[in-house]
Amino acid sequence: MAKGKKLISVIIPVYNEEKNILLIYNEIKKVWENLAENYDYELIFVNDCSQDKSGEEIEKIAEGDKQVKHLEFSRNFGKEIATSAGLHHALGEAAIMIDADLQHPSEFIPEFVEKWENGAPVVVGIREKNKGEELFKRIGSALFYRIMNLIGETQIIPNATDFRLLDRKVIEEFKKFTERNRITRALVDWLGFEIARVYFRANERKSGKAGYNYLKLIKLALSSFVSHSLFPLKLAGYLGIFITVFSTFLGLFVIIEQIILKDPLGVRFSGTAMLAVMILFLVGVMLSSLGLIALYIAHIHDEVINRPMYVIKNQKSKIKNQNYD
Ligand code: UDP
Ligand code: MG
Repeated sequence: MAKGKKLISVIIPVYNEEKNILLIYNEIKKVWENLAENYDYELIFVNDCSQDKSGEEIEKIAEGDKQVKHLEFSRNFGKEIATSAGLHHALGEAAIMIDADLQHPSEFIPEFVEKWENGAPVVVGIREKNKGEELFKRIGSALFYRIMNLIGETQIIPNATDFRLLDRKVIEEFKKFTERNRITRALVDWLGFEIARVYFRANERKSGKAGYNYLKLIKLALSSFVSHSLFPLKLAGYLGIFITVFSTFLGLFVIIEQIILKDPLGVRFSGTAMLAVMILFLVGVMLSSLGLIALYIAHIHDEVINRPMYVIKNQKSKIKNQNYD
């Protein structure tokens, strides 16, 4: 590595992308011609246990280029874990994550780097429109962002992708996460560093097929609701409180009107109706208790995922009074 140049890691998760490996490698090399004066690259292919010849393709490239690294998973762990592994192994002063299927146009990399050099610790690629994406998928993702922003504790930018650049200090903070169920981009958002945006148009997948089918996407969405929000847990409790209060008033009304005042309004509650009010009340009590348990689970959940307690953005000045003059 030439002296004075900054190293940038490029992380590429790979699952069955044999036809795309060489293409993305060549694209990145081409893009780097304009960056090579000031930056070196390190390409980290994280091979998520591909079933095709992706591994051999990566090895072929790695033989001719010492800056290419190949991490091979023992089984398919999924893209989120693959990008995390890439970040754990990155040596660069910044790392860029990019998909192997050429949906993230690498010609935008210089723009990412420029925004980073201008002081942005995180640069996020925002997808303007996904060419060739089905309507159902688009509605699904719009819905996902709405719900996530409604109930989640961190705001996420709609259409923000995994195509992102992270500064070294962000990577170091990211490494502290120990949770297993993870959405890499949501964790980065949780860290709270300033975000610069790069808008791009997603290409169509070059070849092979998307590893994320509907079922996998729904699972992913559910797991991110659960790991970034306690709302689903508390919902039962709120419902319970509502039902309890409602049926208490209803019950009081029945007791006073029917039994104590001997039905001056002439409602004539049947025995079944009274029983129903009684059962409603008990259901309310049960749901409220569930909500209470949910609160305990929420605490346990918080402790177990063991997120860093805080993130320091800058340590601006050292302790001043050490300096007496
Ligand atoms: N990928 C992975 N493991 C998987 C599925 C996908 O590492 O189990 C990689 C894949 O090779 C690609 C990126 O993650 O580089 C995005 O995958 P895909 O194109 O299937 O997802 P989408 O574009 O639909 O988000
Ligand atoms: Mg894709």
